[in-house]
Amino acid sequence: MEDGDITARAKRIVELKRDGHIAASLEKAEALAAEHPRSLTAVCLQGDLHYSAAIGARAATAGSEEEPADAESHLRRGRDALLMAKSLAPDNADIAVALADLLAESSMYLEAEAELRRAMDMDAAAAPKSSQSPVSSTPRERRQSYERVINRLVAHEAGRLMDVAKSDDVAAKRKLQALQALKEARDLAKRFPGSARARLLGPFLELEYMLAASREHKDPAWSKGLERLVCDAVGAAKEFPNSTAAALFQARLLFVCGNHIDAEGECHRALALKHPTDPVEDCIPTGSIRGQDSQSRLSSVTGLFHDLLDKILQFAESFWENCLTSEKRQSFLSVRIDALENECRMVEHSYDFSVSSACSFFKEHKSWRSWVCLLCSAKHTSTRSLLKHMVKKHSRSVLRRLLDIVDPTVEPESDCLLEGLLLCKDSENHDTICFKERDEMFRLLFLEPNRGEVAKPVDKFHQDQQSQGTLLLENIKKNMANLPTHKSTTYEMSRCANGAKAEREPSIVRIFRHPSRKPNVANTPTSSA
Ligand SMILES: [Zn+2]
Ligand SMILES: [Zn+2]
Repeated sequence: MEDGDITARAKRIVELKRDGHIAASLEKAEALAAEHPRSLTAVCLQGDLHYSAAIGARAATAGSEEEPADAESHLRRGRDALLMAKSLAPDNADIAVALADLLAESSMYLEAEAELRRAMDMDAAAAPKSSQSPVSSTPRERRQSYERVINRLVAHEAGRLMDVAKSDDVAAKRKLQALQALKEARDLAKRFPGSARARLLGPFLELEYMLAASREHKDPAWSKGLERLVCDAVGAAKEFPNSTAAALFQARLLFVCGNHIDAEGECHRALALKHPTDPVEDCIPTGSIRGQDSQSRLSSVTGLFHDLLDKILQFAESFWENCLTSEKRQSFLSVRIDALENECRMVEHSYDFSVSSACSFFKEHKSWRSWVCLLCSAKHTSTRSLLKHMVKKHSRSVLRRLLDIVDPTVEPESDCLLEGLLLCKDSENHDTICFKERDEMFRLLFLEPNRGEVAKPVDKFHQDQQSQGTLLLENIKKNMANLPTHKSTTYEMSRCANGAKAEREPSIVRIFRHPSRKPNVANTPTSSA
């Protein structure tokens, strides 16, 4: 057991460090370790503080090529202290991983990896003994330490192997070196199965090599090799679902192979990730994604996915312009009405609306829009004829005097949602709907759906409108008795007009409004929301 004096002094030193006084706490730790050279607490503290001082010295001279001499001496003395700690407590995993960390920072990668393995083996073999050393950590903290050391080791190895792979200009020798690097990369992935970067290094080097080789001569094995690489990349992205590096590699490879649909899908999957890994840990080559912090690095990666999506779009555009006959384009822009109706029935079971009836209405009246009488469901093409109809056919509910008071003309609105549509016949004489413009079709297709709100079924919507309208009509009738002095009538009139407004919406628009595929038409004039 260590005496209470050491414990109390160590506690004060830790507090000093926590408050940011690294130099002062280091001085006290040195004094403590000099007095008690065989105290585990003292030497651990000493090692930990030299480590912090080295990192601090590096940060202070960040950007300069040369390693500050101060950092080097702190690392050396930190190693000495932790080696002493290791000899005092050889079965302490915390000390082993702290030493691994220090060794990695000292660019002693082989020794660091050996020390890391020792720590992980101790962890795996048994629950680590509780330790009184100030570097004792929770399992979570230790896992983070492992990850930090692993990232550091893998980043170094990845950089080294990339240099090996392209270090010689003579083709024959380069091939040999590339193969050697590839072998070592596969080995690295096995040694660090939790590292996305280690996992991606092999496929990345292989692709680099294939690209370089294909510039020299057409390799007959090219497409086969590419196919195998795609499988490998898909596997890597599955193993590391939160790695944007794995997603980017896979998406780019798919694009190169001409599989644009899957490439696009992978881009969108990556862009929607809730917890993407910080690219500093997995980007390949190491350091290819720069940025002050995790957020700015992630937004750089987001830009790369958008670049790829742009490329896919450009490809599609040039395919449309250069590779499609006008018949093919026309068929792309057309849909048979019976097929459309089948689709409608699949999403809207309850409503007996049919696209063909909407189309025949359009043929007859040259308008997609109709006003529906709430008392008998007769359709009208103008509000004026609707009111006339109501007064004439439903004289008990709608008083004639209404005609003298109400101006039934509602400002005509453009059918902007449906202006780009044509009704025509296809080659087999089926009724079809054709878009005049490709962009117009995509605009309608990709209208942002209203999210977070469940729309009523169409027939329920109709019933509600109908009962609301009936109620309004009754109120109007009652109030008509008091006209022209009763003011609330004007109010009721305007409410009535608003109630009728919803009915004005053409039925075909409602088809677009089904909950699962509703466009946001709130900013178009046909909206009734
Ligand atoms: Zn020092
Ligand atoms: Zn009617």
